[in-house]
Amino acid sequence: MEWIIDYLTQRSTKGLLRKLRVIDTVKKGKVTIGKKEYFDFSSNDYLGLREHPALTKMGIKMSRDFGAGSCASRLMSGTLSIHEHLEKEIATFKGKERGLLYNSGYQANIGIISAMVEAKDVVFSDRFNHASIIDGVRLSGAKLYRYAHNNVHHLEDLLRKHRPHYRRSLIITESIFSMDGDRAPLKDIVELKQNHNSFLLVDEAHATGIFGNHGSGVCEEDNVSDAIEIIMGTFGKALGSFGAYIATSETIAHYLINSSRSFIYSTSLPPFVIGANLAALEMVLNEGKRRRETLLDNALFLRTEFEKMGLHTRGCSQIIPVIIGNNKEVIKISQYLFDHGMLVVPIRPPTVPPGSARLRFSLTFHHKRESLEMIRDLMKGY
Ligand SMILES: *Cc1c(COP(=O)(O)O)cnc(C)c1O
Repeated sequence: MEWIIDYLTQRSTKGLLRKLRVIDTVKKGKVTIGKKEYFDFSSNDYLGLREHPALTKMGIKMSRDFGAGSCASRLMSGTLSIHEHLEKEIATFKGKERGLLYNSGYQANIGIISAMVEAKDVVFSDRFNHASIIDGVRLSGAKLYRYAHNNVHHLEDLLRKHRPHYRRSLIITESIFSMDGDRAPLKDIVELKQNHNSFLLVDEAHATGIFGNHGSGVCEEDNVSDAIEIIMGTFGKALGSFGAYIATSETIAHYLINSSRSFIYSTSLPPFVIGANLAALEMVLNEGKRRRETLLDNALFLRTEFEKMGLHTRGCSQIIPVIIGNNKEVIKISQYLFDHGMLVVPIRPPTVPPGSARLRFSLTFHHKRESLEMIRDLMKGY
Protein backbone atom coordinates (compact mmCIF):
# COMPACT_ATOMS: atom_id res chain seq x y z
CA MET A 1 0.00 0.00 0.00
CA GLU A 2 3.02 2.27 0.30
CA TRP A 3 2.82 3.24 -3.36
CA ILE A 4 -0.66 4.58 -2.83
CA ILE A 5 0.41 6.73 0.10
CA ASP A 6 3.39 7.95 -1.98
CA TYR A 7 1.12 8.81 -4.87
CA LEU A 8 -1.24 10.80 -2.65
CA THR A 9 1.61 12.61 -0.89
CA GLN A 10 3.13 13.62 -4.22
CA ARG A 11 -0.21 14.87 -5.52
CA SER A 12 -0.63 16.92 -2.38
CA THR A 13 2.82 18.55 -2.61
CA LYS A 14 2.13 19.56 -6.19
CA GLY A 15 -1.24 21.07 -5.26
CA LEU A 16 -2.99 18.42 -7.32
CA LEU A 17 -4.83 16.41 -4.69
CA ARG A 18 -8.52 16.08 -5.49
CA LYS A 19 -11.27 15.76 -2.93
CA LEU A 20 -15.00 15.27 -3.08
CA ARG A 21 -17.25 18.04 -1.88
CA VAL A 22 -20.72 17.09 -0.69
CA ILE A 23 -23.65 19.33 -1.64
CA ASP A 24 -26.54 19.20 0.81
CA THR A 25 -29.24 21.11 -1.01
CA VAL A 26 -29.73 22.65 -4.44
CA LYS A 27 -31.90 25.63 -5.25
CA LYS A 28 -31.86 27.73 -8.40
CA GLY A 29 -28.19 28.29 -8.89
CA LYS A 30 -27.43 28.13 -5.18
CA VAL A 31 -26.27 25.19 -3.10
CA THR A 32 -25.79 24.60 0.57
CA ILE A 33 -22.80 22.83 2.02
CA GLY A 34 -23.32 22.14 5.70
CA LYS A 35 -25.45 25.08 6.79
CA LYS A 36 -23.90 27.67 4.53
CA GLU A 37 -25.29 28.83 1.20
CA TYR A 38 -23.17 29.37 -1.90
CA PHE A 39 -23.70 30.69 -5.39
CA ASP A 40 -22.79 27.76 -7.60
CA PHE A 41 -20.48 28.72 -10.44
CA SER A 42 -19.31 25.20 -11.10
CA SER A 43 -22.39 23.46 -12.40
CA ASN A 44 -23.08 22.73 -16.08
CA ASP A 45 -26.81 23.27 -15.58
CA TYR A 46 -26.50 26.10 -18.10
CA LEU A 47 -30.20 26.52 -18.87
CA GLY A 48 -31.33 25.96 -15.30
CA LEU A 49 -33.41 22.94 -16.30
CA ARG A 50 -32.17 20.59 -13.61
CA GLU A 51 -34.91 21.51 -11.15
CA HIS A 52 -37.60 22.30 -13.66
CA PRO A 53 -40.85 20.53 -12.69
CA ALA A 54 -41.50 19.54 -16.33
CA LEU A 55 -38.46 17.24 -16.23
CA THR A 56 -39.19 15.57 -12.91
CA LYS A 57 -42.88 15.25 -13.74
CA MET A 58 -42.21 13.45 -17.03
CA GLY A 59 -39.50 11.35 -15.35
CA ILE A 60 -41.94 10.21 -12.67
CA LYS A 61 -44.60 9.43 -15.25
CA MET A 62 -42.20 7.23 -17.20
CA SER A 63 -41.06 5.50 -14.02
CA ARG A 64 -44.67 4.74 -13.14
CA ASP A 65 -45.29 3.34 -16.61
CA PHE A 66 -42.06 1.37 -17.10
CA GLY A 67 -40.46 0.93 -13.67
CA ALA A 68 -37.35 2.24 -11.97
CA GLY A 69 -34.87 0.49 -14.21
CA SER A 70 -34.77 -0.95 -17.70
CA CYS A 71 -33.06 -4.11 -16.39
CA ALA A 72 -31.54 -5.10 -19.72
CA SER A 73 -29.13 -3.83 -22.32
CA ARG A 74 -30.43 -2.29 -25.52
CA LEU A 75 -30.02 -5.44 -27.61
CA MET A 76 -31.74 -7.61 -25.02
CA SER A 77 -35.06 -6.23 -23.74
CA GLY A 78 -33.73 -2.78 -22.79
CA THR A 79 -35.06 -0.88 -25.80
CA LEU A 80 -38.37 0.54 -24.61
CA SER A 81 -40.65 2.52 -26.88
CA ILE A 82 -39.55 5.66 -25.01
CA HIS A 83 -35.90 5.03 -25.93
CA GLU A 84 -36.90 4.86 -29.57
CA HIS A 85 -39.08 7.94 -29.19
CA LEU A 86 -36.22 9.93 -27.66
CA GLU A 87 -33.88 8.82 -30.45
CA LYS A 88 -36.34 10.11 -33.03
CA GLU A 89 -36.62 13.43 -31.21
CA ILE A 90 -32.84 13.72 -31.15
CA ALA A 91 -32.58 13.07 -34.88
CA THR A 92 -35.07 15.86 -35.59
CA PHE A 93 -33.47 18.20 -33.07
CA LYS A 94 -30.00 17.74 -34.56
CA GLY A 95 -31.13 17.56 -38.18
CA LYS A 96 -29.64 14.12 -38.84
CA GLU A 97 -31.16 10.84 -40.01
CA ARG A 98 -30.80 8.92 -36.80
CA GLY A 99 -30.36 9.43 -33.07
CA LEU A 100 -28.72 6.86 -30.83
CA LEU A 101 -28.53 6.95 -27.03
CA TYR A 102 -25.50 6.18 -24.91
CA ASN A 103 -25.52 5.94 -21.14
CA SER A 104 -23.16 8.89 -20.73
CA GLY A 105 -20.97 11.15 -22.80
CA TYR A 106 -17.94 9.30 -21.53
CA GLN A 107 -19.34 5.98 -22.71
CA ALA A 108 -20.40 7.53 -26.01
CA ASN A 109 -16.92 8.80 -26.84
CA ILE A 110 -15.06 5.63 -25.91
CA GLY A 111 -17.68 3.52 -27.68
CA ILE A 112 -17.85 5.55 -30.89
CA ILE A 113 -14.13 6.04 -31.37
CA SER A 114 -13.14 2.46 -30.61
CA ALA A 115 -15.75 1.26 -33.12
CA MET A 116 -14.87 3.70 -35.90
CA VAL A 117 -11.09 3.22 -35.92
CA GLU A 118 -8.57 0.45 -35.22
CA ALA A 119 -4.83 -0.17 -35.26
CA LYS A 120 -4.47 0.46 -39.01
CA ASP A 121 -6.19 3.81 -38.70
CA VAL A 122 -5.36 7.33 -37.58
CA VAL A 123 -7.01 9.95 -35.38
CA PHE A 124 -6.41 13.70 -35.49
CA SER A 125 -7.58 15.17 -32.22
CA ASP A 126 -7.57 18.74 -30.89
CA ARG A 127 -5.03 19.03 -28.09
CA PHE A 128 -7.71 20.30 -25.70
CA ASN A 129 -10.23 17.52 -26.35
CA HIS A 130 -11.91 15.92 -23.33
CA ALA A 131 -10.43 12.92 -21.50
CA SER A 132 -13.20 10.64 -22.78
CA ILE A 133 -12.00 11.31 -26.33
CA ILE A 134 -8.39 10.52 -25.46
CA ASP A 135 -9.48 7.34 -23.72
CA GLY A 136 -11.52 6.34 -26.76
CA VAL A 137 -8.51 6.75 -29.01
CA ARG A 138 -6.32 4.74 -26.63
CA LEU A 139 -8.87 1.97 -26.53
CA SER A 140 -9.12 1.89 -30.32
CA GLY A 141 -5.41 1.28 -30.83
CA ALA A 142 -5.37 3.83 -33.67
CA LYS A 143 -2.39 6.14 -34.16
CA LEU A 144 -3.04 9.49 -32.48
CA TYR A 145 -1.91 12.91 -33.69
CA ARG A 146 -2.90 15.85 -31.54
CA TYR A 147 -3.10 19.19 -33.29
CA ALA A 148 -2.57 22.54 -31.60
CA HIS A 149 -5.82 23.83 -30.14
CA ASN A 150 -8.19 25.15 -32.84
CA ASN A 151 -5.24 25.42 -35.23
CA VAL A 152 -6.46 24.35 -38.68
CA HIS A 153 -3.06 24.98 -40.24
CA HIS A 154 -1.46 22.50 -37.90
CA LEU A 155 -4.29 20.05 -38.54
CA GLU A 156 -3.78 20.43 -42.28
CA ASP A 157 -0.01 19.83 -41.97
CA LEU A 158 -0.59 16.67 -39.97
CA LEU A 159 -3.25 15.43 -42.41
CA ARG A 160 -0.95 16.03 -45.39
CA LYS A 161 1.96 14.27 -43.77
CA HIS A 162 0.28 11.32 -42.11
CA ARG A 163 -3.17 10.67 -43.55
CA PRO A 164 -1.88 8.79 -46.64
CA HIS A 165 -0.15 6.14 -44.50
CA TYR A 166 -3.29 4.89 -42.82
CA ARG A 167 -6.50 3.18 -43.81
CA ARG A 168 -9.30 5.16 -42.13
CA SER A 169 -8.93 8.64 -40.68
CA LEU A 170 -11.02 10.30 -37.98
CA ILE A 171 -10.87 13.96 -36.96
CA ILE A 172 -12.28 14.82 -33.53
CA THR A 173 -13.10 18.18 -31.99
CA GLU A 174 -15.38 19.64 -29.38
CA SER A 175 -17.59 22.44 -30.69
CA ILE A 176 -17.46 24.48 -27.46
CA PHE A 177 -14.42 23.52 -25.41
CA SER A 178 -15.16 22.51 -21.86
CA MET A 179 -12.23 24.16 -20.11
CA ASP A 180 -11.62 27.13 -22.42
CA GLY A 181 -15.17 28.03 -23.41
CA ASP A 182 -14.08 28.78 -26.96
CA ARG A 183 -15.41 27.53 -30.23
CA ALA A 184 -13.95 25.25 -32.89
CA PRO A 185 -13.61 26.53 -36.49
CA LEU A 186 -16.04 23.85 -37.68
CA LYS A 187 -16.39 25.11 -41.26
CA ASP A 188 -12.63 24.93 -41.82
CA ILE A 189 -12.40 21.52 -40.20
CA VAL A 190 -15.23 20.23 -42.41
CA GLU A 191 -13.36 21.43 -45.47
CA LEU A 192 -10.17 19.67 -44.36
CA LYS A 193 -12.03 16.49 -43.58
CA GLN A 194 -13.48 16.50 -47.11
CA ASN A 195 -10.12 17.18 -48.75
CA HIS A 196 -8.33 14.51 -46.77
CA ASN A 197 -10.83 11.69 -46.89
CA SER A 198 -11.60 11.60 -43.18
CA PHE A 199 -14.57 11.17 -40.89
CA LEU A 200 -15.48 13.88 -38.42
CA LEU A 201 -16.75 13.46 -34.87
CA VAL A 202 -17.93 16.61 -33.10
CA ASP A 203 -18.56 16.68 -29.35
CA GLU A 204 -21.28 19.21 -28.48
CA ALA A 205 -21.36 18.50 -24.73
CA HIS A 206 -21.17 22.22 -23.87
CA ALA A 207 -22.98 23.58 -26.93
CA THR A 208 -26.20 21.57 -26.86
CA GLY A 209 -29.03 23.78 -25.65
CA ILE A 210 -26.99 26.97 -25.95
CA PHE A 211 -26.07 27.61 -29.59
CA GLY A 212 -27.95 27.43 -32.86
CA ASN A 213 -31.33 28.77 -33.84
CA HIS A 214 -33.14 25.82 -32.23
CA GLY A 215 -30.53 25.40 -29.53
CA SER A 216 -29.15 22.19 -30.94
CA GLY A 217 -25.54 23.39 -30.96
CA VAL A 218 -22.75 24.94 -32.97
CA CYS A 219 -23.13 22.44 -35.85
CA GLU A 220 -26.58 23.88 -36.39
CA GLU A 221 -25.41 27.48 -35.98
CA ASP A 222 -22.56 26.97 -38.48
CA ASN A 223 -24.86 25.03 -40.80
CA VAL A 224 -22.47 22.08 -41.11
CA SER A 225 -24.52 19.23 -39.60
CA ASP A 226 -24.99 17.52 -42.97
CA ALA A 227 -21.26 17.23 -43.55
CA ILE A 228 -20.44 15.73 -40.14
CA GLU A 229 -20.63 11.95 -39.78
CA ILE A 230 -21.21 11.86 -36.02
CA ILE A 231 -22.36 14.63 -33.69
CA MET A 232 -22.47 13.67 -30.03
CA GLY A 233 -23.70 15.48 -26.97
CA THR A 234 -24.88 14.89 -23.45
CA PHE A 235 -28.13 15.29 -21.53
CA GLY A 236 -26.16 15.86 -18.35
CA LYS A 237 -25.26 19.50 -18.88
CA ALA A 238 -27.57 22.16 -20.34
CA LEU A 239 -30.34 19.58 -20.61
CA GLY A 240 -30.32 19.17 -16.84
CA SER A 241 -30.57 15.40 -16.73
CA PHE A 242 -28.29 12.49 -17.60
CA GLY A 243 -27.18 10.29 -20.47
CA ALA A 244 -25.86 11.07 -23.92
CA TYR A 245 -26.78 10.91 -27.57
CA ILE A 246 -25.31 10.83 -31.00
CA ALA A 247 -26.92 12.09 -34.20
CA THR A 248 -25.72 10.38 -37.33
CA SER A 249 -26.74 8.46 -40.46
CA GLU A 250 -28.89 5.31 -40.43
CA THR A 251 -25.89 3.32 -41.63
CA ILE A 252 -23.47 4.49 -38.95
CA ALA A 253 -26.10 4.01 -36.23
CA HIS A 254 -26.74 0.48 -37.46
CA TYR A 255 -23.00 -0.19 -37.47
CA LEU A 256 -22.56 1.14 -33.91
CA ILE A 257 -25.49 -0.93 -32.62
CA ASN A 258 -23.56 -3.95 -33.89
CA SER A 259 -20.05 -2.97 -32.89
CA SER A 260 -19.87 -0.31 -30.19
CA ARG A 261 -19.07 -2.15 -26.99
CA SER A 262 -20.07 0.55 -24.50
CA PHE A 263 -23.43 0.71 -26.25
CA ILE A 264 -23.90 -3.06 -26.35
CA TYR A 265 -22.64 -4.20 -22.96
CA SER A 266 -24.43 -1.91 -20.55
CA THR A 267 -27.94 -1.70 -19.14
CA SER A 268 -29.90 0.94 -21.01
CA LEU A 269 -30.88 4.29 -19.47
CA PRO A 270 -33.73 4.01 -16.93
CA PRO A 271 -37.26 5.28 -17.71
CA PHE A 272 -37.00 8.27 -15.35
CA VAL A 273 -34.00 9.57 -17.23
CA ILE A 274 -35.59 9.07 -20.63
CA GLY A 275 -38.70 10.95 -19.45
CA ALA A 276 -36.63 13.84 -18.10
CA ASN A 277 -34.64 13.96 -21.36
CA LEU A 278 -37.80 14.09 -23.46
CA ALA A 279 -39.12 16.95 -21.34
CA ALA A 280 -35.75 18.74 -21.48
CA LEU A 281 -35.71 18.67 -25.28
CA GLU A 282 -39.19 20.11 -25.36
CA MET A 283 -38.16 22.86 -22.94
CA VAL A 284 -35.18 23.76 -25.15
CA LEU A 285 -37.47 24.05 -28.16
CA ASN A 286 -40.18 26.01 -26.34
CA GLU A 287 -38.42 28.42 -24.07
CA GLY A 288 -34.77 27.68 -24.62
CA LYS A 289 -34.28 30.79 -26.71
CA ARG A 290 -35.15 33.15 -23.89
CA ARG A 291 -32.99 31.20 -21.46
CA ARG A 292 -29.92 30.98 -23.68
CA GLU A 293 -30.12 34.65 -24.63
CA THR A 294 -30.15 35.68 -20.97
CA LEU A 295 -27.32 33.26 -20.26
CA LEU A 296 -25.07 34.46 -23.08
CA ASP A 297 -25.84 38.11 -22.24
CA ASN A 298 -24.76 37.54 -18.67
CA ALA A 299 -21.66 35.66 -19.78
CA LEU A 300 -20.64 38.55 -22.02
CA PHE A 301 -21.17 40.94 -19.13
CA LEU A 302 -18.98 38.99 -16.69
CA ARG A 303 -16.26 38.26 -19.25
CA THR A 304 -16.07 41.96 -20.17
CA GLU A 305 -15.93 42.99 -16.51
CA PHE A 306 -13.08 40.52 -15.87
CA GLU A 307 -11.20 41.77 -18.89
CA LYS A 308 -11.59 45.39 -17.79
CA MET A 309 -9.90 44.34 -14.54
CA GLY A 310 -6.97 42.95 -16.50
CA LEU A 311 -7.76 39.31 -15.80
CA HIS A 312 -6.77 36.76 -18.42
CA THR A 313 -9.98 35.20 -19.72
CA ARG A 314 -10.65 32.98 -22.71
CA GLY A 315 -13.53 31.88 -24.87
CA CYS A 316 -16.86 33.25 -26.04
CA SER A 317 -19.50 31.16 -24.30
CA GLN A 318 -21.22 30.56 -20.97
CA ILE A 319 -17.93 29.07 -19.73
CA ILE A 320 -15.52 31.77 -18.55
CA PRO A 321 -12.06 30.53 -17.64
CA VAL A 322 -9.78 32.92 -15.78
CA ILE A 323 -6.24 31.72 -16.26
CA ILE A 324 -4.14 31.92 -13.09
CA GLY A 325 -1.27 29.59 -14.00
CA ASN A 326 0.02 28.37 -10.67
CA ASN A 327 -1.75 25.34 -9.12
CA LYS A 328 -1.52 26.47 -5.52
CA GLU A 329 -2.50 30.04 -6.32
CA VAL A 330 -5.65 28.87 -8.07
CA ILE A 331 -6.60 26.83 -5.02
CA LYS A 332 -6.04 29.86 -2.78
CA ILE A 333 -8.29 32.08 -4.88
CA SER A 334 -10.94 29.39 -5.09
CA GLN A 335 -10.82 29.04 -1.30
CA TYR A 336 -11.10 32.82 -0.89
CA LEU A 337 -14.19 32.85 -3.11
CA PHE A 338 -15.59 29.89 -1.21
CA ASP A 339 -15.10 31.71 2.10
CA HIS A 340 -17.19 34.51 0.59
CA GLY A 341 -20.04 32.26 -0.51
CA MET A 342 -19.02 31.48 -4.09
CA LEU A 343 -18.41 27.98 -5.35
CA VAL A 344 -15.91 28.21 -8.20
CA VAL A 345 -13.80 25.13 -8.75
CA PRO A 346 -10.09 25.36 -9.49
CA ILE A 347 -9.16 23.44 -12.64
CA ARG A 348 -5.65 22.02 -12.65
CA PRO A 349 -3.52 19.67 -14.72
CA PRO A 350 -3.97 17.09 -16.08
CA THR A 351 -7.46 18.40 -16.91
CA VAL A 352 -5.74 21.44 -18.46
CA PRO A 353 -2.12 21.82 -19.70
CA PRO A 354 0.58 22.36 -17.04
CA GLY A 355 0.99 26.03 -16.10
CA SER A 356 -2.55 26.97 -17.12
CA ALA A 357 -4.43 26.25 -13.91
CA ARG A 358 -7.58 28.30 -13.89
CA LEU A 359 -10.84 29.25 -12.27
CA ARG A 360 -13.69 28.08 -14.42
CA PHE A 361 -16.77 30.25 -13.99
CA SER A 362 -19.64 28.27 -15.34
CA LEU A 363 -22.73 30.44 -15.71
CA THR A 364 -26.32 29.26 -15.58
CA PHE A 365 -29.66 30.84 -16.36
CA HIS A 366 -30.22 31.29 -12.63
CA HIS A 367 -27.32 33.70 -12.10
CA LYS A 368 -28.68 37.20 -11.86
CA ARG A 369 -26.67 40.33 -12.59
CA GLU A 370 -26.33 40.99 -8.83
CA SER A 371 -24.50 37.74 -8.23
CA LEU A 372 -22.22 38.46 -11.19
CA GLU A 373 -21.45 41.90 -9.80
CA MET A 374 -20.77 40.32 -6.43
CA ILE A 375 -18.28 37.90 -7.87
CA ARG A 376 -16.62 40.64 -9.92
CA ASP A 377 -16.18 42.72 -6.78
CA LEU A 378 -14.79 39.76 -4.90
CA MET A 379 -12.22 39.14 -7.63
CA LYS A 380 -11.29 42.83 -7.41
CA GLY A 381 -10.80 42.48 -3.69
CA TYR A 382 -8.46 39.51 -3.87
C1 LIG B 1 -18.84 16.23 -19.86
C2 LIG B 1 -18.23 15.87 -21.15
C3 LIG B 1 -18.32 14.57 -21.65
C4 LIG B 1 -18.89 13.46 -20.84
O1 LIG B 1 -20.25 13.52 -20.77
P1 LIG B 1 -21.00 12.79 -19.55
O2 LIG B 1 -22.39 12.65 -20.01
O3 LIG B 1 -20.82 13.68 -18.37
O4 LIG B 1 -20.32 11.47 -19.35
C5 LIG B 1 -17.83 14.34 -22.91
N1 LIG B 1 -17.24 15.31 -23.64
C6 LIG B 1 -17.11 16.56 -23.16
C7 LIG B 1 -16.45 17.60 -24.00
C8 LIG B 1 -17.59 16.88 -21.90
O5 LIG B 1 -17.44 18.11 -21.41
